Amino acid sequence: STASAAQTVLAHTTDVADFPKPGIQFKDLSPLYADHEAFRAVIADVVQRRRGSVDLVCGIEARGFVVGAPVALGLDAGFVPVRKAGKLPGPTLAETYELEYGTATIEVHPEPFTDGPRVLLIDDVLATGGTARAAAALLRRAGAQVVGFEALLELTALDGRARLDGLPTHAVAGV
Ligand code: AMP
Repeated sequence: STASAAQTVLAHTTDVADFPKPGIQFKDLSPLYADHEAFRAVIADVVQRRRGSVDLVCGIEARGFVVGAPVALGLDAGFVPVRKAGKLPGPTLAETYELEYGTATIEVHPEPFTDGPRVLLIDDVLATGGTARAAAALLRRAGAQVVGFEALLELTALDGRARLDGLPTHAVAGV
């Protein structure tokens, strides 16, 4: 069930204080990925919720790749990576967005999206929502119908989903 998937995520998350910067409490989901039964159960929870409604899954570099690829296979959907700038051979579409300090750029190959597939966006952690917001905008520009965002863990106090403009958003667990 969804409640036990949430417990599984929380039980396999390590809190790391002051990483990567002072004041940030980093949520490390590596213990989840290292435990195959726990990992499988959490992926299955996402897959059952989205079954039948997705043509392609897009994971956000890098931990969104870890969760996105098995979700894609579970949904009988393809997987397309959303990458940090400079990693993909051209042609690419790019989107630049604001960070707390400075900006970041993400890129994608637009070709898989030209016929308007239904795309599920996925990442491990939803924090401020800035990254997911930019990825959704990039995929829409490429032609995708972005049908939802899934995260394994949401930092609810940051209210990241408010920045996603009504995109159907679900997190397996919240803290
Ligand atoms: P966001 O603020 O939602 O744009 O998050 C930026 C990226 O960093 C996302 O890919 C998140 O998965 C990751 N991230 C942000 N804050 C944390 C955190 N406290 N612990 C782990 N990952 C984080």
